[in-house]
Amino acid sequence: MTNRVLLIYTGGTIGMDWNPQTGALEPLDFHHLIAQMPEFDAIPVAVDVHQFPQPIDSSDMNPQLWAHIVTIIEDHYDHVDGFVILHGTDTMAFTASALSFMLQNLTKPVILTGSQLPINQLRTDGRENLITSIEIAAAHHPDGTPRVPEVCIYFSGKLLRGNRATKINSEGFNAFDSFNCPHLADAGVNIVYHDALILKPDFSRPMRPHFAMDAGVVVFTLFPGIQEETLRHIMDSPKLRGIVMRTYGSGNAPQLPWLIKALEDAHQRGVTIINITQCAAGPVQMARYSGGFLLKNVGVISGYDSTVECAIAKLMHLLAHSDDPEFIRRQMNRSLCGEITVPA
Ligand code: ASP
Repeated sequence: MTNRVLLIYTGGTIGMDWNPQTGALEPLDFHHLIAQMPEFDAIPVAVDVHQFPQPIDSSDMNPQLWAHIVTIIEDHYDHVDGFVILHGTDTMAFTASALSFMLQNLTKPVILTGSQLPINQLRTDGRENLITSIEIAAAHHPDGTPRVPEVCIYFSGKLLRGNRATKINSEGFNAFDSFNCPHLADAGVNIVYHDALILKPDFSRPMRPHFAMDAGVVVFTLFPGIQEETLRHIMDSPKLRGIVMRTYGSGNAPQLPWLIKALEDAHQRGVTIINITQCAAGPVQMARYSGGFLLKNVGVISGYDSTVECAIAKLMHLLAHSDDPEFIRRQMNRSLCGEITVPA
């Protein structure tokens, strides 16, 4: 039986072309993309296509469009073996993270990909990324279960857990990596799957879609010289419910009494504050230095080894589903779908 994959085309460089007037790249529709790819007809997988009515540069991605993607996946879930989402690289890691929480108990592959060069360019990376993603989305074990039943990013030979991935290069083809999680597969002459690392959901349970995300969140980065007035403006914002604070090293902050007080006040008001390191690799360990210990004392929650993209998406998802800061704290301290490494 031929495997069937739904290709969801949202936009991104892969399907863009230069506007002759401005010289800037603009998203075009899917037929333009497919016309550049005669090899598409030779793929041994049945590919259905759903395109966004208005393809976008992924800088314009937002929670409403994430919910739209979830609806498309829900509508087609029982009729296809897997999904490939063509998406711009700029916010791909945010979308992959968000979908990993919005598609609870996912039992089918959802592979996001795109490219650094438009598909009509001679040296494009788009063809390989697209063809290999379709192959991965259709891959099965001998018992018929999908090989990769999780949200992933495939890019430049690497299959990465979506909520662990981050964009690392604005120019090179090697645009993504997941520093705190090994690759789930490597594609060279063969696609080598690292099966032991891939999530194993309960295939007997239905996928549960979630559509709500609470955007009352903010990310701020600590830096030497940070000013109280600026931070207070952010923290006193009435609709603010969650903060991702990018700290130094293993989760440290300057020992400034006003900063600790501002964090404590926010925590008392029920704002959830997550500590994420500015380092590309390694976890937060708040008890290691007194600069981190102080944060823990005023209610700041460890983000473990989460990416910023994932922390913000998880927070938006949890805040949309609960008003109970204690529940949110417990969930932030658990790995819901492989997004953090929680020490035993
Ligand atoms: N600005 C583009 C986008 O994210 C970049 C890309 O696709 O690589 O849509």
